Formats: sequence, structure tokens, C-alpha cells
Amino acid sequence: MMIDSNRIYNRNGRTSYGGSVVYWMSRDQRINDNWALIHAAEQANIYGSSLHVIFCLAPAFPNANIRHYKFMLSGLQELEPLLAQKGIAFHLLMGNPVEELTSFISKYKPGLLISDFDPLKVKQYWKEKLDKQISIPHIEVDTHNIIPCRVASQKAEFGAYTLRPKIKKLLPQFLVDSPSLPKVIKASKADKTNWDEVLIWLNPDISVAPISWLSPGERAAKLTLNKFITERLNGYAEQRNNPNLDAQSNLSAYLHFGQISAQRVAIEVAKTNAPETDKAAFLEELIVRRELSDNFCLYNPNYNTVEGFHPWAQKTLTEHRGDQREYLYTLNHLEKGNTHDDLWNAAQLEMVITGKMHGFMRMYWAKKILEWTATPETALAHAIYLNDKYSIDGRDPNGYAGIAWAIGGVHDRAWGERAVFGKIRYMNYQGCKRKFDVNGYIKKIMQLNAQHKTKS
Ligand SMILES: Cc1cc2nc3c(=O)[nH]c(=O)nc-3n(C[C@H](O)[C@H](O)[C@H](O)COP(=O)(O)OP(=O)(O)OC[C@H]3O[C@@H](n4cnc5c(N)ncnc54)[C@H](O)[C@@H]3O)c2cc1C
Repeated sequence: MMIDSNRIYNRNGRTSYGGSVVYWMSRDQRINDNWALIHAAEQANIYGSSLHVIFCLAPAFPNANIRHYKFMLSGLQELEPLLAQKGIAFHLLMGNPVEELTSFISKYKPGLLISDFDPLKVKQYWKEKLDKQISIPHIEVDTHNIIPCRVASQKAEFGAYTLRPKIKKLLPQFLVDSPSLPKVIKASKADKTNWDEVLIWLNPDISVAPISWLSPGERAAKLTLNKFITERLNGYAEQRNNPNLDAQSNLSAYLHFGQISAQRVAIEVAKTNAPETDKAAFLEELIVRRELSDNFCLYNPNYNTVEGFHPWAQKTLTEHRGDQREYLYTLNHLEKGNTHDDLWNAAQLEMVITGKMHGFMRMYWAKKILEWTATPETALAHAIYLNDKYSIDGRDPNGYAGIAWAIGGVHDRAWGERAVFGKIRYMNYQGCKRKFDVNGYIKKIMQLNAQHKTKS
């Protein structure tokens, strides 16, 4: 077998006896370094059958808008001819994924369904429903995580410190170069997708503008990685937390849509001769922190509600429910970046305009929402709503884990007690001033806003 069998999770216990293969591509929208696709092609060749890649476009995906759809659809459009070169048909189905896949399977009668892994509830729900309707084997391949999520740990981890040793132990087995995608011998064809019609059919919310500073797709993802390695990896450990510098990799959108694999990124970064401290700092974020987020969402179905916080965090937040809030803002105030805090407003504006808030500012931003709303429930809901709506990498386990960390102490420990926050770690404006040039950041975003207004 071309892939480590530990990446495979048989969802319905059925075994394949041949017939064509369907790969339901969802989270991992790429042709290279995609273990699910490699496995699907290999299975098709073993049975001398064809391979069909299906992407199912669900209308009204929660908080998705034209910003997200444009980025995703451009990446998928790039894939269609590349798959054809490998003898693989690409089908874009539009509608409810459970219904669309069920009807595709009953019409074409494939012998095997392969899907990629996603811990989020909506995807798990679709798969559970689909599994009840189909009678062919359904194999899930974790091609998003370097260590398959279910293998790395079988329970919700307390923090990076508990997951890190498990990951380190398994890295030599799983952090391996992937073979190139084999050509499918029994080639198949599908009608070419009419991409212009897709957006019309979707009719997405157009109030959030698409982004132009980051090009979508697998090719652009590789270029972004190369640029990061040659220009910014050196110095990453020191500079990544400075919102005035462009020191981060900018890979999160590509990783979110699976337009690049974390495995490829890790391999390419590890083999550079950048300082070890920079490589270690980057790989900690890319591997341990990112895979901890998948662990959180897989094993904690309450990842987007207060019930998902640890009991100590729920207790301390409850003890401080009645605390006087110095400022109280509505969702509308927050969304418009209309608070008394110019630093917070700048961060919100950065996200609204560019689709990416700097990683350091994301922590401050979410913590202030806790401070300025009436309840932790409201804070969590507002933070998730805004992050998912405006961030190009939103609706990702990293977002749910990051927000739960900031507001609910998830993967963190208890800190000194204070008003509103209780024992949840606190951040303030003065602390930011000690870390970076706050005025410089605000000025930078205001200039960006002025340019943005002139253009639109
Ligand atoms: C409140 C809050 C909300 C967040 N929302 C999201 C989100 O919606 N989507 C998202 O991908 N990330 C989110 N993060 C995590 C992190 O801020 C971003 O991944 C990072 O800033 C993206 O920029 P980059 O790719 O240039 O990062 P880099 O610093 O270059 O890091 C490389 C990769 O490592 C991973 N990574 C980095 N930091 C973290 C982290 N703290 N937790 C988990 N993985 C990490 C990401 O996959 C990232 O692309 C959030 C963090 C917080 C505190």
C-alpha cells in the first residue's frame, strides 16, 4: 500500500470488492501530497476501475461569503485539468452533500467511497447521515494532519504539553515524503464544470469583499511557502509576534482549504538551513498547535460553546458573571470597529479589509470581546461570528481552539483572578505597548483603510 494504513479509518466496517472509486474531496483541495487521493488512485488501479473526484458545494455554508467562495473555487478550478491529466474525472456537485452523494452513488454504483478527515461537526454530521444511506465501504483518510488525528491521541488533550510528546514520538513514522499521484489506468471523463455558473447558483453574500493580496490555489500556495522560506523563516521565532512586521508565513488560508499540505510545509522547512530556533518555533505552530486544534474539535463536540471549556474555566467565568463591565458593546459596534480602543479597532479593521488579522492581535482582539460583552456566551458567539465571516482562514479548528483559548482558557492554565476574566489569562493595551509599536500598527492600518476607501 502506498499510504500508511494508520491514516485510514473505515467508517462503516465494509470491505471493498472492486468497482469504480469515488473520492469525496472536501477539506483537502489539492492534487499533490494528498494521501486520500493517492489512496483512491491506488485502489482504482488495483481494481482496474475508474476514479471520480467529487466536490460538493453546499449552499449557505455557515458564515461563508464571496471572500471564501472565490478563494476556494479558484483553487478547485485549477485542479480540474490537472486531475484530467491523471485520468481522473472531476465532478462539482451543488446542493446538500448527503443528498447529492447518495444520488451520485445510487446512479453510478461505485464500489468504494473515500473521504478526507475533518473534525468539525457539520462534516461529521454529513458523514454520519451519508453512512446510513449507502451500502458501499466508506474509508476516511486523514490527509490534513501530519499525525492522523485519531492516531495522535484517543482523547481530548489538556494542552500542547500533553500532545507534544505523543506527536514527537510518531513524527518519524508519519513525516515522510509522499509519492506522486499515480495515473489512473482506466481513465474517466466528466463534463467540464461551468465555473461562471457556479457563483451565480451560489448567490453568496457579497458584503465582504474578496481578497487580492493572496492568490488562491495550489501553485500560489507553493510560491507563498517558498517566499516565506527564503525571506522570512530566518527570524521567525523573534519576529512573528510583532504585528508591524510581515514575519508570519501567510499559509493559514492555504492550509485551511487544503491547497497545501502541512506535511509538505514541514518537510520543506525542516530541510532548510535556517537557524534551528526559527525552524523549531515554526514547526511548533504548524504541527503541535495546529494538530491540537483538530484534537480539540474531534473530541470536544462543544468546541464552539462555553460548555466546551474546562470545568475550572466555566466556574471562574460564572463567578464573575455579575461583574461590572466598564464598556459594553453590541455586535454592530464590534463589527464596525467602533469601540473606545484604537488598537482593537485597528485589528478589527485589518481583518475586515484584508481577511487576515495578525496572529498576535487575534489573541488581544478575542480577549477584549470577553471584557466588553455581557456574558462569556455572547463573547464566544460574537468572536466566532466575526472570525468566521471575515477571516479567509475562518471556520477552521484553529479558529475555534484559538477563540476558546482566549475566552475560555482552553489549552491554558488558571492565572491570577481579576474582574470579568476570573482566572482566564488577561491581556491589556499597556502590555501590547511593551511588546510592539502600537501607534505604528494603528497608523499602518489607518493608511490601509484610507487606500481601501479610495479603491472602493
Ligand atoms: C482568537 C484566535 C483566532 C484564531 N483563528 C484562526 C482561524 O480562524 N484560522 C486559523 O488557521 N488560525 C487561527 N488562529 C491561529 C493563528 O493565529 C493563525 O493560524 C495564524 O496567525 C495564521 O497566520 P500564518 O499562517 O501566517 O501563521 P504562521 O505563524 O506562519 O504559522 C504557520 C501555521 O501554523 C499554524 N498556527 C500558527 N499559530 C497557531 C495557533 N495559535 N493555533 C493553531 N495553529 C497555529 C497555522 O496553521 C499557521 O498557518 C487563531 C488564533 C486566535 C488566538
